[in-house]
Amino acid sequence: MVDETDLRHLRRCVELAAEALAAGDEPFGSVLVDGDGAVLGEDHNRVASGDRTRHPEFALARWSAAHLTPAERAAATVYTSGEHCPMCAAAHGWVGLGRIVYAASSEQLTTWLREFGVPAAPVAPLAIGEVVPGARVAGPVPALADEVRALHRRFHSGS
Ligand SMILES: [Zn+2]
Repeated sequence: MVDETDLRHLRRCVELAAEALAAGDEPFGSVLVDGDGAVLGEDHNRVASGDRTRHPEFALARWSAAHLTPAERAAATVYTSGEHCPMCAAAHGWVGLGRIVYAASSEQLTTWLREFGVPAAPVAPLAIGEVVPGARVAGPVPALADEVRALHRRFHSGS
């Protein structure tokens, strides 16, 4: 279930994705929120640097490992514009973060990229639950799908 608070954080993720796009990067954005609802950090994709591992969920997981206790991590929620890839899901699981709420699923993204004629990625688009069976996950959120799809279409249209 996704409530109004979740939607507010997800909208910020979509804003961050748009910021990434404006900076010439892939449009993905994420927000880390603690158990009391305070925003601890946010980030967007930075793979245009040439390092394809620079996903926001991965960066937030590593930040959490360095700065939060295990209990704080378990109580935290990661919001993200696109469902975690297997690398980020694994990082989330290893670090012991709590709930994940995403706007668009990997399945949706895979379908959209195929429509846009983008070659398949070198990493399988597994769902979070296939990588981290115990993860608490909510998404996708239909109200945000068109907006997220449009960002990816703009990125891959090269304009
Ligand atoms: Zn990732």
